[in-house]
Amino acid sequence: MSDPLQRLRDAYSVRTVSGLTRRLRPRPVAGDGLVDLAGNDYLGLSRDERVVSAAAAAALTWGAGATGSRLVTGTTVLHAELEAALARFSAAPDALVFSSGYLANLGAVTVLGGPDVLVVSDTVNHASIVDACRLSRSRVTITPHRDVGAVERALAGRPEEHAVVVTDALFSVDGDLAPLPDLHAVCRQYGALLVVDEAHALGVIGERGRGAVYAAGLAGEPDVVRTVTLSKALGSQGGAVLGAPEVIQELIDRGRPFIFDTGLAPASTAAALTALRILASTPELVATVRARASELAWAARSAGLSVTRPDGAVLSVTIGDPHAALHAQAVCAEFGLKVGCFRPPSVPEGRACLRLTARADLSDAEVALAARAFTAVARTLRIPTRH
Ligand code: PMP
Repeated sequence: MSDPLQRLRDAYSVRTVSGLTRRLRPRPVAGDGLVDLAGNDYLGLSRDERVVSAAAAAALTWGAGATGSRLVTGTTVLHAELEAALARFSAAPDALVFSSGYLANLGAVTVLGGPDVLVVSDTVNHASIVDACRLSRSRVTITPHRDVGAVERALAGRPEEHAVVVTDALFSVDGDLAPLPDLHAVCRQYGALLVVDEAHALGVIGERGRGAVYAAGLAGEPDVVRTVTLSKALGSQGGAVLGAPEVIQELIDRGRPFIFDTGLAPASTAAALTALRILASTPELVATVRARASELAWAARSAGLSVTRPDGAVLSVTIGDPHAALHAQAVCAEFGLKVGCFRPPSVPEGRACLRLTARADLSDAEVALAARAFTAVARTLRIPTRH
């Protein structure tokens, strides 16, 4: 029997020197050995040697876990540094780190919502926003996707004094952008706060990946609150809320997902901090992931598939029938590609789709492989190829 630890290292192709990770597998592949076109490691930073080394060093210094909630023993200098770096990078007044993006959304919406607050939420917002709305004890109005007129009518006709409009910045299945300038104008007119979940936008949208709020020129607005995840473009784990100091103080005082949750592990904190520094100093990462997303979309379209316009790193190929979508996913797997497959109830009836994500470190050969797989998918679905 070989050493189990060695077997594990071999399985993950990780070599260790003096306890620190030195060499990593150059191309991320999904756990099943397929080329990853489904994950959220948009910039390939989760396996960047600098990011992983920072995580390892932090674990060696601070321990494997945070040991307590942020308000008790779970805050290290790394957490404070990360909060300052996130605020600086995003041009936000202040930031507060949570142990996930999910909890950042729960914290923001439950603290800003309440029985005397109307919450208006886009129908395809992420599940964490849906849960946050439910927990907020607010009356919640769900508006059709990207429908600013419906948001305006909900705000104008409300009996509540206060209101919060909450939206994904970049929607997680179709990869389309929220109409942030128009939403903000309506919020301003009707005295509502705008909460924007930048999970899929941070590191992908705007100059150096500063996000969709920044790109829309709304970063300094006091009535805009942002949530981010550290688990996608930054390749780590965790989340944060970015906003005015008064909002951050409310979260510290009343945010149950902040107060009663163990703090983010030091390793994840250090990894996110290092990834953020890399992002800030490497603008070509953002340009590259966007170019790769366009290439994937072009390949799918050329194969005759119906694909969304990639506003960021996420695109979806509409298949329609859920069985056909599963089959299309299997065809991609035969070509060595892992793609997501979304079926009802995750998407509306008749809208089953493949969800693809681009990575900055996709190779030309991998994009060419995807093009061949898309052609095979179209052939099995009997779609004529476009020339
Ligand atoms: N918001 C959106 C739009 C997401 O896609 C996700 C993750 N899938 C989250 C929030 C939750 O982030 P985390 O995984 O860090 O909890």
